[in-house]
Amino acid sequence: MIDLAIIGGGPAGLTAGLYATRGGLKEVVMFEKGLPGGQITGSSEIENYPGIAHEVTGMELMEPWPEQCMRFGMKHSLDEVTKISKRDDGIFEVSVMGKDIVEAKSVIVCTGSTPRRAGIKGEDQLFGKGVSTCATCDGFFYKNKEVAVLGGGDTALEEALYLTNICSKVYLIHRRDTFRASPITVERIMKNDKIELVLNSSVKEILGDKMGVTGVTIVDSDKNERELAVPGIFVFVGMNVNNGVLKNEDGSFICATDESGNVIVDLKMKTSLKGLFAAGDLRIDAAKQVVCAAGDGAVAGMQALEYVND
Ligand code: FAD
Ligand code: NAP
Repeated sequence: MIDLAIIGGGPAGLTAGLYATRGGLKEVVMFEKGLPGGQITGSSEIENYPGIAHEVTGMELMEPWPEQCMRFGMKHSLDEVTKISKRDDGIFEVSVMGKDIVEAKSVIVCTGSTPRRAGIKGEDQLFGKGVSTCATCDGFFYKNKEVAVLGGGDTALEEALYLTNICSKVYLIHRRDTFRASPITVERIMKNDKIELVLNSSVKEILGDKMGVTGVTIVDSDKNERELAVPGIFVFVGMNVNNGVLKNEDGSFICATDESGNVIVDLKMKTSLKGLFAAGDLRIDAAKQVVCAAGDGAVAGMQALEYVND
């Protein structure tokens, strides 16, 4: 049996591992289904992580984190967790895809969030063939071409700016005429000649053929339609919380959540189930920032240590 299972290896999970192992827990395993680092590794730039004064990519920011955690004894299991449950004797069972169940004294869930689909006609069929949710990954395919970006939050605007470094033009399509993104980012958008704002508009359909996306049909608030002949569209319409591992067979959760599925925690990152902690983007009122996810992870790591020692 291990002392602590950490599910998810983003900023929250890695920091939880660092604090738990450095604090003295011996058997700490972080289950991460991919490369550690989390969703920020798909970001083209981060400039608000304290102490990193110059602009770096998300990948560059996260690159040293796993090694620092492993140094204090945390183990990385390259596996996807499918379910967490707690037995009557207080021990947690961590179900790992294709492997035996792992028993743990405590669990920290740090599974974060994943990009939401907009639900547009053609979006699913053409996903990966011109429809993308990652500008860093796919931007290069559109070198010197025109692309569309959908959304009005920080992600859409920042990634639209990034794409202007590669593409000849970026149509930024947003359903309102004001943005959710931070003012400094909006200001940069306004000053960028390569960005054409398509406001009060939505994408009715993503058009394509066997080769991929050929264009998008836009409809404005007066119901006027027009087509943009772009080979790519980047969809940045928010994130869904990854809470699947906390679900019972009947769809209920093993701990309390709010109506959107965010995990309810207290200031010590304790969930309603003793010994189960949640940290980062999947918890209620998360600021959805790397620094905050890391802070949550530190708190959860220290609390798990205390719980196991007790
Ligand atoms: P995540 O980073 O989402 O990590 C969760 C990890 O859990 C993932 O690695 C995933 O693979 C793993 N996982 C999920 N389910 C399972 C499972 N069942 N089994 C095993 N592993 C699992 N924040 C900033 O502070 N500044 C920025 O400039 C900024 N820019 C951003 C740009 C983009 C494009 C995006 C998408 C986000 C940005 N953010 C930014 C937000 C920031 O990335 C998140 O707030 C932060 O990564 C949350 O960390 P987390 O550890 O909670 O979750
Ligand atoms: P977000 O803030 O939720 O914004 C989503 C955007 O998509 C909104 O503008 C929304 O429009 C629009 N939208 C939602 N559903 C849509 C649909 N079906 N069709 C068309 N448009 C739709 O999501 P995000 O930008 O991914 O950011 C997620 C979190 O991460 C935020 O808390 C954000 O601050 C944080 N983040 C921070 C940074 C940074 O600090 N630099 C960078 C990236 C992300 P409305 O505005 O009309 O609702």
